[in-house]
Amino acid sequence: MPLRGFLTCRLCGGKLTGSASKGKLQRYFYYHCQPGCKERFRADQANEEIVKELQKISVYKEALQLYRIILEKELKKSNKEVGVGNRKIIDEINKHKDRISTAETLMLDNQMELWEYKIIKTKYEDKIRGLETEMQSAITRPADYKEYLDFGFNILLQVDGVYATGSPFLKRQVLCSMYAENLIFDKNKYRTPVYHETLSLILNTVKGLSENGKGQNPQKSVLSSQVAPRVEDSNQFLQDMRELATIPDNT
Ligand SMILES: [Zn+2]
Repeated sequence: MPLRGFLTCRLCGGKLTGSASKGKLQRYFYYHCQPGCKERFRADQANEEIVKELQKISVYKEALQLYRIILEKELKKSNKEVGVGNRKIIDEINKHKDRISTAETLMLDNQMELWEYKIIKTKYEDKIRGLETEMQSAITRPADYKEYLDFGFNILLQVDGVYATGSPFLKRQVLCSMYAENLIFDKNKYRTPVYHETLSLILNTVKGLSENGKGQNPQKSVLSSQVAPRVEDSNQFLQDMRELATIPDNT
């Protein structure tokens, strides 16, 4: 029951769980709420509908591919900018390290008191930590981001199939990386899901792209301003995809 833990009760907002029940002829599975709430439905219906729900992501194939190209271009550009910024930070970190080691020498040569040295050391270590954090938030993008991008978009392009044929573990991973909130199954359909921020940004963009594509040529300037991905978002997206990429197939 892959949706166990991913469903919210439409009646009380509680978390649904899954159980097996022995019917007269065969065992069947169902999702149900906590004692006291009467929500309960067959698991197979919900399990089939989730594949249709995921199809809503992969349906925009052409627009997704176009978005991918634009995203890659943006990443390439910002990768250069990040490189320059990082070199500055590294220089500054090294300067602080030099200061600490100078103070250490002075202290060891009895030209500085131990307590003085400790104050200096703490001060510059704090600064170094701050700079390192700053740098980490900037370099979440590795040089091989293209690989993750390929992987991420390949998943998006066929996410329903990946889910349908994937192991239970992969199924959960797909659900985790697509939806920000638990799903609500209501009258044999899912209510409009809440996608992760990055994915929702992508979907809104690609929806716009495929609608434009149906009409006459969209104005180029308008299009590019709509489409240009925010770099912070693409970072987050790559992070999600990297996590997906590390999943072993046969779990
Ligand atoms: Zn309930």
